[in-house]
Amino acid sequence: MTATIASSVLDTGATFTGLRCRECGQGYPPGAKHVCEDVCFGPLEVSYDYDEIRRRVSRRQIEAGPASIWRYRDFLPVVGDPVDVGTGFTPLLKADRLARYLGLEALYIKNDGVNMPTLSFKDRVVSVALTRARELGFSTVSCASTGNLANSTAAIAAHAGLKCCVFIPSDLEAGKVLGTLVYKPTLMAVRGNYDQVNRLCSEVANTHGWGFVNINLRPYYAEGSKTLGYEVIEQLGWQLPDHIVAPLASGSLFTKIRKGFNEFIKTGLVEERPVRFSGAQAEGCSPIAQAFEAGRDFISPVKPDTIAKSIAIGNPADGPYALDIARETGGTITAVNDQEIVEGIQLLAEHEGVFTETAGGTTIAVLRKLVMAGRIEPSERTVAYITGNGLKTTEAVTGVVGEPHLIDAQLASFDTAWEQVQMLQHASLNGGAG
Ligand SMILES: *Cc1c(COP(=O)(O)O)cnc(C)c1O
Ligand SMILES: [Zn+2]
Repeated sequence: MTATIASSVLDTGATFTGLRCRECGQGYPPGAKHVCEDVCFGPLEVSYDYDEIRRRVSRRQIEAGPASIWRYRDFLPVVGDPVDVGTGFTPLLKADRLARYLGLEALYIKNDGVNMPTLSFKDRVVSVALTRARELGFSTVSCASTGNLANSTAAIAAHAGLKCCVFIPSDLEAGKVLGTLVYKPTLMAVRGNYDQVNRLCSEVANTHGWGFVNINLRPYYAEGSKTLGYEVIEQLGWQLPDHIVAPLASGSLFTKIRKGFNEFIKTGLVEERPVRFSGAQAEGCSPIAQAFEAGRDFISPVKPDTIAKSIAIGNPADGPYALDIARETGGTITAVNDQEIVEGIQLLAEHEGVFTETAGGTTIAVLRKLVMAGRIEPSERTVAYITGNGLKTTEAVTGVVGEPHLIDAQLASFDTAWEQVQMLQHASLNGGAG
């Protein structure tokens, strides 16, 4: 069975061979399916013919590709023309000022807050999922979202000309709601939290025959996150970092960065070296961090209550795999509170000129906490993954970042105000503000 699937997909020029259960290894044809229905109900994952990939790829061939995730298409589960909205190849910023502040020697910011088209890492997973959705013949696509996924699905469905209906919890930030509605999908705001939205969507997926990017198309969707691993390797000059810090919602992104690193090792594109994986959660929704700290290998679901809504998943599907990775690699999974998240947002903005949303604030706050606790060595080459844009969660910093100085359109008015600013700065430099 698996062999005939492999050859039929490869006949089309694709390198993926089908779906496979992560738990028991059972193979499935590459359709819209995410659970091992025949055997153990484990999650399905895309499998590839790595010998074929190794024959096709080289550093030079990848470097000659487009400046988007599609330069890695041999590693992605697509057959024909991709839905190409320019997603990926976002900047890897050398963060020298933040590094000095934290006491690190080499810190990099992978800035998916400027990803295309909707300013979050979700554009990667949706570009892959909707390409596959079109190949599988879906005319309506959907998702259960904590915000960014709704933005991405609605935007990329619009570009691809697919009908779109997305589901969000009803208490999301205004920027996430508006940034979905503008693309004219049907938007369902559900009275409930993400986990309840997700459960509803599983039922809709079963009864309506739609392509849900993070449910029945989840194996394809998840592969999109691997590109965050590939890009960092390539942007570091074809080298692995020593330590990465990334936010955890379902845990999918975290596990797929690892898969991306491993695939580049396996196909000879990068030299192997140990990379430590550390994960960031918000205290108000930290089921994976709690399991890590308690030394448990199972997740106890929680009810989310945090400003970091985009990563507020109380029952994370890939939680156990994320735990394994942090433990295996000598990393850690840690949570920070809402105030620390806001401080994280400000730290990154003030030191590097990058305005991230609450998920990125969580990542920076955890980075700071780990450095202070000695869990990240100063000499480790560290990459912090910034996954979303601050303009979408302005509520989080309103009232915290101060107010503009209101002046008249006269030089004297400006001079008076400027003098006051100088005096205040002088006072606080001398410790006057305590
Ligand atoms: C969805 C999301 C994540 C993490 O997603 P996973 O479910 O763990 O893959 C991280 N940051 C932002 C901004 C997100 O929207
Ligand atoms: Zn199975």
